[in-house]
Amino acid sequence: MALLEVTDLEAGYGPIRALDRVSISVGEGELVAIIGANGAGKSTLLMSISGVVPPRAGTITFAGRSLAGLAPHEIVRCGICQAPEGRRIFPRLTVRENLELGGFTHRDRTQVRHDIAEACGLFPVLGERLGQLGGTLSGGEQQMLAIARALVGRPRLVLLDEPSLGLAPLIVAKVFEVITALSARGIGVLLVEQNARAALALASRGYVLETGRITLTGTGPELAADRRVRDAYLGEG
Ligand code: ATP
Repeated sequence: MALLEVTDLEAGYGPIRALDRVSISVGEGELVAIIGANGAGKSTLLMSISGVVPPRAGTITFAGRSLAGLAPHEIVRCGICQAPEGRRIFPRLTVRENLELGGFTHRDRTQVRHDIAEACGLFPVLGERLGQLGGTLSGGEQQMLAIARALVGRPRLVLLDEPSLGLAPLIVAKVFEVITALSARGIGVLLVEQNARAALALASRGYVLETGRITLTGTGPELAADRRVRDAYLGEG
């Protein structure tokens, strides 16, 4: 049984149908990439899973349990954490306070402290800046903080929306390195990326989302070798 199973999901905004019968799955500790052009529905898919955009039809099950009708904070409690696009850390809170918020579902403060120390082990740059205001971090550091914050919630699945967006190549490499480390620790990762080349190089499987529909799926290497993917997403037309 997959950790996350999305079946025939439909979601949208007023008259806009952003997702049309989307079915995907993520296994325990599996790294799965969703690639697609602007407006394809990638963020909507992640927001439906995290409960921010309620599905209009279809089912989402996580560890065998339906997420239907659950509020976003209840979904976090089930073990799904999202690091949203645009970083959305709290600029006027310190790095430490931002990280503590990632553990809001845990009453055990010792565990939260332990998780923060562990996150700082993955991202030493955050450990050096625990007292600094989030808003004063560089773009790459804010992205790292967003991922680290998601980890403090001890997720079984993390949803990552464009983690490489706007980052310098060296920082992108670091962020992708950490993403790989997450799945190596048994955390499932659903990765939405415009950087299709990098995403498919890391992912064990991937899906292509086009105007709300899954049009292709396969292993990372299969998709990276597919002529249609190469033409449309790898700039090799
Ligand atoms: P990008 O890579 O550009 O972020 P995306 O693949 O994540 O794109 P979504 O943001 O999921 O795509 O958008 C899917 C569709 O839903 C688009 O047509 C978009 O205009 C529309 N949409 C997204 N959010 C809203 C909203 N809050 N209200 C109305 N329409 C929306």
